[in-house]
Amino acid sequence: MLSRSDIMARIKNKDTTPELAVRRLIHSLGYRFTLHSKQLPGHADLVFNTKKKVIFVHGCFWHRHSCKRGCSMPKTNVEFWRRKFTRNRQQDKYVRAKLSKLGWKSLVIWECECKAKMIARLTEKVTHFLGP
Ligand SMILES: [Zn+2]
Repeated sequence: MLSRSDIMARIKNKDTTPELAVRRLIHSLGYRFTLHSKQLPGHADLVFNTKKKVIFVHGCFWHRHSCKRGCSMPKTNVEFWRRKFTRNRQQDKYVRAKLSKLGWKSLVIWECECKAKMIARLTEKVTHFLGP
């Protein structure tokens, strides 16, 4: 049986991850997709096979978005983080270039774009990318 804290953890994870919010939104817009394709470079979060399009949902901190959170730097082990962030960014660039070579279009949705107050803008961004 699950303890109360287990349940709380599950609910919290489920309801707050940006990826889930994005999935829910896009599903509600009528688009259908598969998840985390292993056939494609970078294991994109949402895959639209018939459109040859993929969406990545990126955490601002890890993938170094230009927002406040993406620019924040841990106070200790600065060199370690700097290297790690550089690697992440290079990897993202590499993956998107590779996808593009294979004829796939990709879109990045940032964690900070998934907030409730941003939903109209995010909807626009998504529909613009995915088309009719
Ligand atoms: Zn951000």
